[in-house]
Amino acid sequence: MSNSAMAGMIPLFFYDPRQIPRYAVDTPACDSFGRRIDYLRVSLTDRCNMRCVYCMPAQGMQFAPRPELLTNEELLLVMRAAAAAGFRKIRLTGGEPTLRQDLVELIRLIKAMPGIEHIAMTTNALRLRHLAAPLKAAGLDRVNISVDSLDPQKFRQMTRGGKLEDVWAGIEAAVAAGLQPIKLNAVIVRGMNDDEVVQLANLTTQYPWEFRFIEVMPLTGVTGLAQEGVISSTELLERIEAAFGTLEPLGQASSDPARLYRIPGAPGKIGFISSVTDPFCATCNRMRLTADGRLHLCLLRDEEVDLRAAIRSGATQEQIEQLVRHAVAIKPWGHGLPEGVVPTLRGMSELGG
Ligand code: SAM
Ligand code: SF4
Repeated sequence: MSNSAMAGMIPLFFYDPRQIPRYAVDTPACDSFGRRIDYLRVSLTDRCNMRCVYCMPAQGMQFAPRPELLTNEELLLVMRAAAAAGFRKIRLTGGEPTLRQDLVELIRLIKAMPGIEHIAMTTNALRLRHLAAPLKAAGLDRVNISVDSLDPQKFRQMTRGGKLEDVWAGIEAAVAAGLQPIKLNAVIVRGMNDDEVVQLANLTTQYPWEFRFIEVMPLTGVTGLAQEGVISSTELLERIEAAFGTLEPLGQASSDPARLYRIPGAPGKIGFISSVTDPFCATCNRMRLTADGRLHLCLLRDEEVDLRAAIRSGATQEQIEQLVRHAVAIKPWGHGLPEGVVPTLRGMSELGG
């Protein structure tokens, strides 16, 4: 099923930077639908120290050989080119981004980059206990942490081996380091952790965190589970309201996919990310960079622009900027799940969520 093994089949767009139309460099990159794209989610590795059931299949994962991954220098070149094209926010993800060697140094270098205003990271937090403080000192602004269950046994099952106590230690370290506001993510899978939705929501009555419930998406390797296990945000909202009464709607920040609510009087917020049942394509402001150097144009589609080939054949920063602007220009409107079009080539661990 995977991944680098299928690289030959990926419908990559190989562009010679000298051949693509010349894009103006004095305005921020906008796509053909007028959406301003200024948020780059960067997968630092496709490897992970967990094997979450909704992210990776139990068997058959193949990871990209190390030479196929972008080096730190190549990553920084892409980010500089993206910043020149108007990107302002970077999120480091994976796989598990904390497995990347020199992560602290990489963040220090991104922080120093003109144009980049905000650096965030999505992590499973297993390694955050010791990393949170140095990451904050290097310039990381905030973290999103995945927590699918509050029951250690179930957490171990859903993540195929993760230790909940290490995640809690990571969350505490993130709070102590000032990596705030803390956002926690749970992918809710029917029959696995949907019985914990009320307990998870209840965290927001105790802590000033944002707890976001994510609908499971049909990425490669987990399509069967996604078909059977998807549980809509509407159903989750009903279950939470049955326990806490009507939630106070807080709306939605302009390009944040989460629809926000509050349990009356709670210090924290509840968010619903309804990528499957109520997509937010109209406000999409993001582009993804895979660990092997491709700009992935839409999370739930297969099209990619190959930056690594251009970089490794000597493209300049200005030429990479033109490729980034081109990728933005040809970004599709949104996914085709309602028409039955599912992505077939990449798993979530390669794309970073
Ligand atoms: N390892 C890190 C983590 O788990 O937070 C970062 C990478 S992970 C791929 C990024 C996000 O994608 C996590 O919040 C994870 O829960 C989410 N995710 C993974 N597979 C998913 C799926 N099939 N549908 C929806 N979200 C998914
Ligand atoms: Fe690893 Fe994150 Fe995927 Fe879980 S969701 S397997 S922690 S990459």
